[in-house]
Amino acid sequence: MPIYEFHCEKCNKDFEQLLLGSDKPQCPKCQDRNVHRLMSACGFVSKGGAGQPVKMAAGTSGCGTCSSGSCGSCGH
Ligand SMILES: [Zn+2]
Repeated sequence: MPIYEFHCEKCNKDFEQLLLGSDKPQCPKCQDRNVHRLMSACGFVSKGGAGQPVKMAAGTSGCGTCSSGSCGSCGH
């Protein structure tokens, strides 16, 4: 089900709305249509965790500027 998160510019309300076809999102509080879509919380947070990419970048290769993993210019 395409449920998206929206943020209303007018009253600052965050809300979720099911979007079918060409439906336009509308704020349930003030009925304003000046809303923008947020990244859906589910589907991003649940996949693997947020800390993994940072750990990999820092740990797998010792040196970022050369392939040897050990050089004088970068301290590794
Ligand atoms: Zn609103």
